[in-house]
Amino acid sequence: MIYFDSAASYPLLDDVKQDMLCSNDILFANPSSSHQLGVESSEIIEHSRQLIADAINALPSEIIFTSGATESNNLAIKGHFSQPDYQSKKHIIISAYEHKCVHAITDFLVRTSGVSVSVVKPNCDGIVSSQAVSELIRPETSLVSVMHVNNELGTVNPLKEIGQLCYEHNIRFHTDAAQSFMKKMMDVDELNIDYLSISAHKIGGPKGVGAIYIRERRNLMLEPVIHGAGQEDGLRGGTLATVLIKAFGKAIDSFPRNYAHIIEQDFKCHLITLLRDLNVPYIVNGHSIPSLLSVTLPDTDVQSLMRSTQDQFSLAVGSACSSKEIEASHVLTSIGLDRTTADKTLRLSFHHGNEYTDIEQLAVEIKKYTH
Ligand SMILES: *Cc1c(COP(=O)(O)O)cnc(C)c1O
Repeated sequence: MIYFDSAASYPLLDDVKQDMLCSNDILFANPSSSHQLGVESSEIIEHSRQLIADAINALPSEIIFTSGATESNNLAIKGHFSQPDYQSKKHIIISAYEHKCVHAITDFLVRTSGVSVSVVKPNCDGIVSSQAVSELIRPETSLVSVMHVNNELGTVNPLKEIGQLCYEHNIRFHTDAAQSFMKKMMDVDELNIDYLSISAHKIGGPKGVGAIYIRERRNLMLEPVIHGAGQEDGLRGGTLATVLIKAFGKAIDSFPRNYAHIIEQDFKCHLITLLRDLNVPYIVNGHSIPSLLSVTLPDTDVQSLMRSTQDQFSLAVGSACSSKEIEASHVLTSIGLDRTTADKTLRLSFHHGNEYTDIEQLAVEIKKYTH
């Protein structure tokens, strides 16, 4: 099976897998226990915390471990609005193409907490401009949530400008950085970020662990999403997942080498060149990061291609099966694609194990279904 879906989940890196196999045997103690094994587990967790902090120029005390980016987004947004300071400032601006979980969280807050939401549209190139955000600011706006790299388009948002805008208006700035962490330079001070969400399984780590950065956390009065026995300074209950957190650290260490290989191979350019040589019409959606390509194939029967190659490739198409009917991706419609065009749009996301022959096989199959 040729895997072209690393943006959904990146394959577990070999180094990380080895690390997990060893640590499963030794890191069984509860990291909150005060005996020696507990302390050893706790030190390992603090090492991973330091690695995350260093990667984004933050302090370890500002990093909280969670189960992944979904939970981090919950803690950032629900936590923010739980603070007494913001009871009269219940307006949030989010972008239209945020991950589904951000929409679900704000829908919940609208229903239950009197929060109001304004949605900023990306432009047709898939970018959310600070200008577009600024037009939606109100006196009661206290939070802006705009993702760093979009997960279906791979486009990169101008966080520095948006961060600056938020700073000038005394608005907190949250970014979902699940798709950009360890791929794009990230300095929370330079970008003026207050809350930042990341996940291990998007960089070759295990599923089920992530983290959130919270600026000057100790001065805030955030309510936890998961109440517990005081772990993570009371902000996230539950015994810390030592093995997963150690593996997260290992992934931070190993991912850059693997990502450098993807950049060097330039799979994106290779596929586009092949499509051009094979006379397959294509439209590239947005200027994306090296590991991701969103491409619309107007003259290709994408549904048949998907059906007949399902044993051969793992790829994502621009429609998501919801419970009853198939709906066009909210990301693609947000940049102006209609349902038919979205259905002809593939999201290809590469990993270090892909080879040129994988790309060639895909191009040949695409050609077969193009009239
Ligand atoms: C994958 C992803 C998430 C969800 O992360 P989990 O760790 O699986 O909860 C959230 N946001 C973006 C942009 C993602 O790509």
